Amino acid sequence: MTIASDIECSAVNPLITGSDAPFGTMPLSRLTPSDYEEGIMEGIKLQNQEIEAICNQRSVPTFENTIVALDRSGKVLNRSILALSNLESATGDTVLMNTLSKVTPALSEHSTNMMLNERLWSRIRQVYERRNDDTSLNDEDRRLIEKTYKSFVHSGADLQGEQREKYRRLSAELSDLNVKFSQNVTNAMKDPARRLWLKESDLTGIPETIKSAYRAAGAEALEEEGKTDDPALYLVTIFRPSYGPFMMYSDRRDLREKLYKLNGSTNTSGEFDNTQILKDIANVRLEIAQLMGRKNYAEYALELTMAQTPDNVMAFLEDLRSAYTEPVHKELEEIQNLARKTEGNDFVLQPWDYSYWSDKLKNSLYSFSNEDLKPYFELNRTIDGVFGLATKLYGYKFKATDKVDKYHPDVRIYEVYKKSGDLLGLLYADFFYRAGKSPGAWMTEFRAESKDDAGNKTLPLISIVCNFSKPVGNDPVLLIADEVETFLHEFGHALHGLSSEAKYESLSGTNVDHDFVELFSQFNENYLTRKEYLDGFARHYKTGKKIPADLLDRFVKSAQFGAAYSTMRQLGFGYLDMAYHTITEPLRASADIEQFEANAQKPVRIFEPVEGSVISSSFGHIFSGGYAAGYYGYKWSEELDADAFAAFKENGIFDQKTAAKFLKMLQSGDTKDAMELYVEFRGKKPTVDALLERDGIK
Ligand SMILES: [Zn+2]
Repeated sequence: MTIASDIECSAVNPLITGSDAPFGTMPLSRLTPSDYEEGIMEGIKLQNQEIEAICNQRSVPTFENTIVALDRSGKVLNRSILALSNLESATGDTVLMNTLSKVTPALSEHSTNMMLNERLWSRIRQVYERRNDDTSLNDEDRRLIEKTYKSFVHSGADLQGEQREKYRRLSAELSDLNVKFSQNVTNAMKDPARRLWLKESDLTGIPETIKSAYRAAGAEALEEEGKTDDPALYLVTIFRPSYGPFMMYSDRRDLREKLYKLNGSTNTSGEFDNTQILKDIANVRLEIAQLMGRKNYAEYALELTMAQTPDNVMAFLEDLRSAYTEPVHKELEEIQNLARKTEGNDFVLQPWDYSYWSDKLKNSLYSFSNEDLKPYFELNRTIDGVFGLATKLYGYKFKATDKVDKYHPDVRIYEVYKKSGDLLGLLYADFFYRAGKSPGAWMTEFRAESKDDAGNKTLPLISIVCNFSKPVGNDPVLLIADEVETFLHEFGHALHGLSSEAKYESLSGTNVDHDFVELFSQFNENYLTRKEYLDGFARHYKTGKKIPADLLDRFVKSAQFGAAYSTMRQLGFGYLDMAYHTITEPLRASADIEQFEANAQKPVRIFEPVEGSVISSSFGHIFSGGYAAGYYGYKWSEELDADAFAAFKENGIFDQKTAAKFLKMLQSGDTKDAMELYVEFRGKKPTVDALLERDGIK
């Protein structure tokens, strides 16, 4: 194996041999890039041997010797990939980044080879066909058979002869196109043509902290270009953290319009043009769907979701459209009326005015700023409060431990116990921002929960990663409400992973339909608006006082403000996503993207389309991320979480009976159909009513 020569292979690689450390955890601080690479390459070899062994058996295919054996294969590979990708995102280490890109082609080839292995597929199919004859199987066993069967079919296993090769070729083509699309989006962010160089006098309305960020960005860019710094120059770009505040605070309408158009025309021409690539992506997806005997790609993609069909998705989006259309016009009228007071009666609100004027209106109504709640959310108290939610609802206990090796000194590790006192698993919490760490927040795992035949549990090792600012000196860390919300969100995902009681790894924890998984995280966010919850831990770090009721009220109302606009915007993305993935004829090279987009979004249009501005060419979620025909999932989960929380509002937000039912859902992972699980919890299917109520729409 060729590895950078200055890195030595450790004599024993725990990724391969396993580890004697407490809970079988990996010595993450000591693993080297070569350990990861070796673990992955060896892991592929081992899993291939395991699959060969499954295929070479003389005995007839059974649930145990085929489906379970497959579920339990690939342990070395899994823990190596998880460790590498988790550390790569949490550290941004360039050597790890290179290691990851180096092994990625081998990984995708391995996965395709497995899914298209004819001997393995023939065994899986035989077990599937006889699944109802075997009376020794329970529901979870049958669920595993069905899930395995479906995911193989979905990945082309059932195709014959030439069609298999065609599928292989299309998948490879699609993944190349996805990468190109996403690289173009990333490169356009740094494109000098998409920048505004401004002077201090251009920055009226911009808060001081943001001004200094623009100045710092200017200094950095000039240095990168090898020029001498000019303290008079400020740099504003289309990168979210730069773009968002400018659109919200800049008094200069002309500059907001300019920046909006720079953003809207991203990737529509020149070196980083995505317009042809996105058509190719939509067309290759259509070809894959047709190969699978489906009418369009959405039909194919939605088979493995809670929504199931394009019709269900469109009916759902349509329900929201009809509920939010009138409120959004009312919202926009109020905003425009405020603007007209200073801008004159002929002022017509444009897309580059929305953020600016809606913020002004919001402040005039509720005068709530993100800073206002900060003194009440000191980090250590907030950790107690967030973890405490699981104590109140499910009886969980959290105990900090230093027995386990960690990849960075800032990482905190907790043993998590359930009510009975049994250990549930470990929770890694990596709270603070570090240079290089991926932005945002996420939950991930180093190992998923599962059980052996005797019922012995492999404990889950779950991790949440955030980017809170690190304390300076002895100052306390104070979180803004958005950060507490993020913490609650990721903690919800963590509980899903930790609570899992599935036997099989493929069915455990967060391995559920993608439009079901956010229920468990978003559900937790509801508590952030409840006084009886916040009073349990949120105290002013200086005075020790609880959050005053009127402050909380202003927070809740300001959070609700603009709900119709943001919903319509999300619906716009959802309609557009569905339009690209319900085409039944390939898009022509000459197809006009602006026109396509305008037609797709017509039902939910808020502003008239702006010439030359589109979303499609930089819409990474659907063209390079995992959200193709899945963007609706955000709103779908919101309907679920609002509806689920309504059950707690009816019975008491800490009601033990309701919590026990919710816990059952958390424990079940994918061992049952998502809708069935939900109905068992709620006693009925979800409706959109609770979401409308939370948004103040009805
Ligand atoms: Zn989430």
